[in-house]
Amino acid sequence: MLVCSRRCGSRLFRALFAEVELDSEGVYQDHRIAQPGYICLNCGAPAFDLGEVPAEMRAEAEADETKTVTADILCPVCETMVRVDEGMECPNCGAPLEVA
Ligand SMILES: [Zn+2]
Ligand SMILES: [Zn+2]
Repeated sequence: MLVCSRRCGSRLFRALFAEVELDSEGVYQDHRIAQPGYICLNCGAPAFDLGEVPAEMRAEAEADETKTVTADILCPVCETMVRVDEGMECPNCGAPLEVA
């Protein structure tokens, strides 16, 4: 299922990396998609295969998670165990906390 990235409503797309099989007279027989990669024939925007998007979005979400530094640390001032992102203050006493 292909969709235009601009959602222009077009239902015609072109595969960028397709291999076309011809018979000896050069008549189209069959094709296969060598690599995923499509453009919208109506507006020229990149199109994508909805079937492949969830996996890509999941991979991006996982990459985002590893970028965010969260840790449970003990506030040196009030000794409260707090979960903080980098550069946050203790929600209890306002002391600056450093993630080790
Ligand atoms: Zn389009
Ligand atoms: Zn504190």
